[in-house]
Amino acid sequence: MGVINLLDKETSVRIAAGEVVENAASVIKELIENSIDAGAKKITVEIKEGGKSYIRVTDDGAGMAYDDALLCFERHATSKIRTAADIAGVYTMGFRGEALAAVASVAKVTLYTKRKEDKLGTETVVEGGAVRKHEESGQKDGTTMIVKDLFYNTPARKKFLRRDATETLYVSQMVEREALARPDISFTFIKDGVEKFFTDGSGDLLSAVTSIYGRQLADTLIKVDSDNGGVVVRGYICRPTAARATRDMQLFYVNRRYIKNKTLAAAVENGYSNELMTRRFPVCILSIEVSPTETDVNVSPSKTEIKFSENVPVFDSVYFAVKATLAGGYDKERFVMPESEPKNDFEKLINSVASLVTEEKPPKESGWDVESKSRWDGKLGEVFHEEPTIGGKPLKEVVSGAPAPKAPENESFIKTPAVVSAPEEKAAPAADYVIIGELFKSYLVVEQGDELLIIDKHAAHERILFEKLKKEAAPPASQLLLVPETVELSAERAGALSAFEKRLESYGFYCKYKDGAAVISGMPAGIDRADAEEALCEALDILAGGKGSDNAVNDRIYHSVACRAAVKAGVPLPREDRENLVKMLMEMPDIRYCPHGRPVMTVLKKSDLDLRFKRI
Ligand code: ADP
Ligand code: MG
Repeated sequence: MGVINLLDKETSVRIAAGEVVENAASVIKELIENSIDAGAKKITVEIKEGGKSYIRVTDDGAGMAYDDALLCFERHATSKIRTAADIAGVYTMGFRGEALAAVASVAKVTLYTKRKEDKLGTETVVEGGAVRKHEESGQKDGTTMIVKDLFYNTPARKKFLRRDATETLYVSQMVEREALARPDISFTFIKDGVEKFFTDGSGDLLSAVTSIYGRQLADTLIKVDSDNGGVVVRGYICRPTAARATRDMQLFYVNRRYIKNKTLAAAVENGYSNELMTRRFPVCILSIEVSPTETDVNVSPSKTEIKFSENVPVFDSVYFAVKATLAGGYDKERFVMPESEPKNDFEKLINSVASLVTEEKPPKESGWDVESKSRWDGKLGEVFHEEPTIGGKPLKEVVSGAPAPKAPENESFIKTPAVVSAPEEKAAPAADYVIIGELFKSYLVVEQGDELLIIDKHAAHERILFEKLKKEAAPPASQLLLVPETVELSAERAGALSAFEKRLESYGFYCKYKDGAAVISGMPAGIDRADAEEALCEALDILAGGKGSDNAVNDRIYHSVACRAAVKAGVPLPREDRENLVKMLMEMPDIRYCPHGRPVMTVLKKSDLDLRFKRI
């Protein structure tokens, strides 16, 4: 007897289902695309428990006739293509004719549908590929698909679904992208009974962006509208100073379909050229229109990859569109931030005084000392308090009416653990190097043997902090903010905050979600209050992006924290800090590059100099 069996129909459909149906987000993507294809003007997406137990997509589109309401669950049943030639176009959203068959084979699906011209509608129930019900019934115009218990009959696949919060995040991102692709369609997204966003369907992209990501982000955007003949580029890019630490807020649509493409990201970033700080990525929501025959959209099953045929100048078009937009007189006035005044000084004063009374306040120190101190106490994650301020003035000054005593000019903020723990007990071994000084407020110059080391102080400190965070894999010391910092969040970041609150604490971010904002009560030690918002948003973006293993995500967050907590180039470093920084660096001989890959130091040999001066 042979070993090869022919799979029965149901099994082969289930295997094929894996291609289309990966998780709730992919199911919803197919359903939304069907609704769009049916000419819907209003689409409602509802999920419960990350879409695992319940998905509903309702539209006001064309609806289906009684027979079609059954036929649509058959494989290769599609009303959208008749010949292979049609496939060349990407204007029609789906064209495989197997999405519904695939979904219905791994879940319990109920379809309610009615065409305008019909008196009665249809209700169809298909469970695990088997038709349970197909009958006429009273319905309103349009179509509702309800998908329950995803993967109930394929436990192996069900195991691969992530936690509810994570699946919810995937669904939200996907619905957001679809809604931004079609501002002319009104989208409502409901999660566990709560409406998360609603776009008005007015056709105005900025209005949709505002509904989805909030006014704070929308206010940083500049309009792009360019047509070079072959390629039309429209949408929004952010002002250079609003760029972010990740590329997660770069959305590209080609012929209205959400697409991932490195060429497009590179074109945009090149367009900003030297207007961006290093490691900053612009926000963009750009729609590119090219002739469909010049693209190959079907290179991956999820259809988010795209290739452009070489004769279309897509890169150049996007690059010049961005460059021209930034160079052109966009309304820079709009982007001048108003002086941020505390909302309610009295309330903050009362809070601060109350906290001062109940809590002992150690002096302000950098995270380094605090961290090492807490370790000496055998306690982890100990908090310390930053100097409370009101309206930018130290609290003491406001309360007493007298200027607060100033910290000594050269007060050090970097200390090695050895200095903190037992300064006199163990005399450090005599250093075999001499710190010559600081160059351009950015580099430390050190003589060691017959070598001259030129150290990038920011990169070095960043790397040291990074190694420490990584090695200790324990909550980094956190500093308590006496007056909590409130940061407005986009839906995406809010989702990440509720999904990863505990994990954020493991990085030193203590925050609670409240009314669309994060209330930060603790930050990783060493990060300035002024950087609190950016630091938290960056961590949320990295978590929301969720790319790579947990370790990779941890590393990215450690990079981000280390970068912000590290001493800055351009600000002179007090002598004691220079000494401590160089000492720490010398104790970590493996360090040559900062976590971002830039070198930490460069070495000039005496012989190099001798050669230059023609001594040898
Ligand atoms: P495809 O979209 O590739 O044609 P699907 O399996 O997604 O394949 O859908 C099969 C068919 O069911 C579609 O071609 C369409 O005729 C019909 N259909 C699906 N969803 C809807 C809807 N929301 N409104 C009207 N017709 C629909
Ligand atoms: Mg489809």
